[in-house]
Amino acid sequence: MLSLKNISYSYGDFNAVKNVSLEVNDGEIICLLGPSGCGKTTLLRIITGLEKGYTGKVLLDGKDVGDVPVNERDFGLMFQDFALFPHMSVAENIAYGLKRRGKQKQDIKKQVTSILEQVGLVGFEKRDVNMLSGGQKQRVALARSLAPNPRLLMLDEPLGSLDALLRDQLIVELRDTIRSVGLTAIYVTHDQKEAFSIADRIAVMNSGRIEQIDTPQQVYESPKTAFVARFLGLSNSFPKGDSSVIKRLMDISPHDFSNADEILVHPMGITISKSEMRTNNEFNGIIQSVVFRGDHSHVVIHIDDKLPLRVTTLESNYAVGQLVTLQIVPEYILPM
Ligand code: ADP
Ligand code: MG
Repeated sequence: MLSLKNISYSYGDFNAVKNVSLEVNDGEIICLLGPSGCGKTTLLRIITGLEKGYTGKVLLDGKDVGDVPVNERDFGLMFQDFALFPHMSVAENIAYGLKRRGKQKQDIKKQVTSILEQVGLVGFEKRDVNMLSGGQKQRVALARSLAPNPRLLMLDEPLGSLDALLRDQLIVELRDTIRSVGLTAIYVTHDQKEAFSIADRIAVMNSGRIEQIDTPQQVYESPKTAFVARFLGLSNSFPKGDSSVIKRLMDISPHDFSNADEILVHPMGITISKSEMRTNNEFNGIIQSVVFRGDHSHVVIHIDDKLPLRVTTLESNYAVGQLVTLQIVPEYILPM
């Protein structure tokens, strides 16, 4: 539906977006995930038409929209903190975009009623938006962006400033509403948990480039670059080097390390046990530190010649200094 072809953009001589290509399919939620400053907002502004002077093409259903003004592109936008109009009621907030488009009063009323049903806010029409909970504010903001029936919804870190617990709830609600309306959406965030929760596919960005586009499961299980791995919190990556334990890990892995700079031992491939060492993909380890987190614990284990592996475990009774055995699934020893 939306197709970006080799988009590059510079602020002066600073390249903020570098040769980005991306296909967004109908009904899909795509996430742009990357650290602050990597060019996510700039890319959204290019898609909306707010930023001119880029190279490459923005195609909507195969047509170049380079010359289509912002307000004729039919896109919905949702920003950080929801940016509701504080002096307007729920209904007035939702009707705002429709009035600007010069719709008839009768039609606006019908549309507002139907949209309130879709987001579960029937009966809230006259409410003061300042008196709503975080979840309700999000629904009003979503309703306001959905009211003009956009073909594409773009959300730029909408949950950015909320506390973690509320974010966890709202992201699921947001996903379910976007899905139930069947909307196509681009969701921008620097938070990988948010991205995992909402996205059908994630585009991981670093310094203006997309490093990997895949489903959340693929991105997590098979990060393509060391940056992606680190950004997702996969910390067990090591320079290829020539320590004997790194050599042994590369030997048992079925993957090709000839072009790799680093080796990643994916946490999904690690299990700890207290049994004796047996097979050739088992390693001796000594527990170096334990952080108890309630339903799980983080442990650091030094294996063989002191390679520190970080492992999350459901077991809560490991002690520093304890000897353990690590099984490492060879497929999860990855070249980066
Ligand atoms: P993100 O949304 O991923 O945090 P942005 O797209 O806002 O990143 O910014 C990308 C880069 O471009 C950043 O390094 C930022 O400092 C720079 N930048 C953004 N807007 C401007 C501007 N108006 N002028 C100059 N540099 C800018
Ligand atoms: Mg931004």
